[in-house]
Amino acid sequence: MRTLRSEFPSFDPKQKAWQDSHCHLDFADFDGDRDAMLARAQAAGVDRFLVPGVRQAAWARQFELGSHYASWHLAFGLHPYYTAEHQRADLDELPQWLERGALAVGEIGLDRTVDDFDKQLKFFQAQLSIAESLQLPVILHHRKSLDVMHKLVRESGVRDGIVHAFSGSYEQAQQWLDLGFRLGVGGVVTYPRAQKTRATLARVPAAGLVLETDSPDMPLQGYQGQRNEPARVAEVFQSLCALRR
Ligand SMILES: [Zn+2]
Repeated sequence: MRTLRSEFPSFDPKQKAWQDSHCHLDFADFDGDRDAMLARAQAAGVDRFLVPGVRQAAWARQFELGSHYASWHLAFGLHPYYTAEHQRADLDELPQWLERGALAVGEIGLDRTVDDFDKQLKFFQAQLSIAESLQLPVILHHRKSLDVMHKLVRESGVRDGIVHAFSGSYEQAQQWLDLGFRLGVGGVVTYPRAQKTRATLARVPAAGLVLETDSPDMPLQGYQGQRNEPARVAEVFQSLCALRR
């Protein structure tokens, strides 16, 4: 059986091929050159992609594209960025998409910079309970919300997933690892100014780390202002290796 852990293995400094465990390849940003972008990824040794969902209105197209590309794996979820448009009926519909071979529920989470935190909490908790009932891992988005999310996930019974774009202290990292989670490492590792997170990622056991890009967002150092793409997960890998040497 394909699982998040089998298809998106943890960081290994000796690995020769890479997987992008978080990239929004269904976004319109890639409509003009999706095949060329995937060919560049393949040429860089990146052979598998986890494409998380963010809003109900995009799930059908995400599924259609995911059916077309054998290298894509999917997650479906309601992202806090789109809180204003999420509806109760979206939660009723979500399990039907998840049951079509999705590897995780996501991208879900809490974001203190987005309005209506109460509504975010309702949708986050509802999606955690869907994940728990379907025995699926979760892909978590956080911003200024890591500790409250840890409490809610712990209470939900979900014990597997990825904290996407992890940033935080070693103690926070350890709390997520203790809960059975792995930490997503992307472009942040390439920025010297991200001192605290880099110091954390240098110490966390390799089994607790997984590589990602968040394409088309979160460009690496040297590519600011450009669209990010999964070929660069190979550069994230190099940066992480250098940090842990
Ligand atoms: Zn994302």
